[in-house]
Amino acid sequence: MWTYHPDLLAVPVPRYTSFPTAAEFGDEVGEGDFVQALADVRGDISLYVHIPFCEKICWYCGCNTSAANKAERVASYLDALNHEISLVAERVPKGAKVSRIAFGGGSPNGISPIDFVRIVDTLIVHFGVTNPVMSIELDPRTLGSEWASVIGAIGIDRASLGVQTFAPHLQEAIGRVQPTRMIENSTAMLRAAGITSLNFDLMYGLPGQTMADLDDSLEQTVALGADRIALFGYAHVPHMIPRQRKIDASDLPDAQARFAMAAHGYSFLLDAGYVPVGFDHFALPGDSLAQAMLKGTLRRNFQGFTEDPSDVLLGLGASAISGFPGLLAQNEKNTGRYRMMLSQDRLPVNRGIARTAQDQHRGAVIEALLCRGRARIDETLRAEALPLLRPYLDADLCEIDGEDLVIRPGGVPYARSIAARFDPYRKDSLRRFSSAV
Ligand code: SF4
Repeated sequence: MWTYHPDLLAVPVPRYTSFPTAAEFGDEVGEGDFVQALADVRGDISLYVHIPFCEKICWYCGCNTSAANKAERVASYLDALNHEISLVAERVPKGAKVSRIAFGGGSPNGISPIDFVRIVDTLIVHFGVTNPVMSIELDPRTLGSEWASVIGAIGIDRASLGVQTFAPHLQEAIGRVQPTRMIENSTAMLRAAGITSLNFDLMYGLPGQTMADLDDSLEQTVALGADRIALFGYAHVPHMIPRQRKIDASDLPDAQARFAMAAHGYSFLLDAGYVPVGFDHFALPGDSLAQAMLKGTLRRNFQGFTEDPSDVLLGLGASAISGFPGLLAQNEKNTGRYRMMLSQDRLPVNRGIARTAQDQHRGAVIEALLCRGRARIDETLRAEALPLLRPYLDADLCEIDGEDLVIRPGGVPYARSIAARFDPYRKDSLRRFSSAV
């Protein structure tokens, strides 16, 4: 279904979970900008709560996380997080309502269930939350019955399991050993706890991974009834993520093999009845993510593809990013400095970028291309982008339909590369991003 054009994938491009991307953030944005943006918030807003701890650190992981092996350090982080929640909540105007809360990390279940309940209580009390849609990222290696009970009692009904691969030799190669029985037990416990939308994260492009390995992981994922699947290509960038140095890079699939794996995964999951969502997500037709895709209301934010319609996402916790129409603002990444800022009653925002009207316009075009495969292009953008798009148009990966640019079915793996033609920041920062497939 997909044709491999190595020259059109040669240039690394961002994942565009925001525009401008985090690579454009600078230290000119701080607490004052964030407080001003908060004051203007109205209507439904979403929260993301970052818990930067995991019981065991996987070698491939690029997340801001560390081992939860020092109780005192975890406790003081959670105190700071609870304090941040109260400081942010008191600045949110009365007219705003929290309708969604996502817990991520790290692994939220890298902390104790009691500590987690305390965070949820703080959110409910300070934001006055009633009946939000709640989701949580989970590590099967630390998911016990106590955690399942807490998830059920709180009423969280969406969960994402870090699976990556079922193949034992690949799990060894990436430092994440979790036997199939563990994933099956986690799935059963989460279903019994009331999880109605369960995502499995899977990876291709792992060292030593064969097409048969990928097939097996896809088959087991489908058999376990995952409602959503995110199929990511492993990006080996040890110069940026030092913990990846533990991974033997001598057996990594080359670019063409990675492309073949992405294509195979795509057609496998379509044949299994999943709806393709954007360029790397899949969902069963009844799932809300597939419904958003089918209705044309899919969005993209820091968590990837989402059905969340809100334009305001408040990030809480070290390194968390908040998004407003006119501002992207990131918290201090270092947990020690994050704690110190909060101990001084300061909101820990210290990086970001003001989004100009032009940024918002280009961001809407990029989001539309990635989420709907179609975007209205005004004359100015058309004149600028058409020469850059010529190779993609000539290869039938996209086409002009009236005033719209449309990504054709064979152009799906090139969607990020096509969208990048509307990104004027790209020229200076290409080397910082991962391969487009
Ligand atoms: S469990 Fe997830 S967040 Fe934690 S180290 Fe592994 S991949 Fe990273």
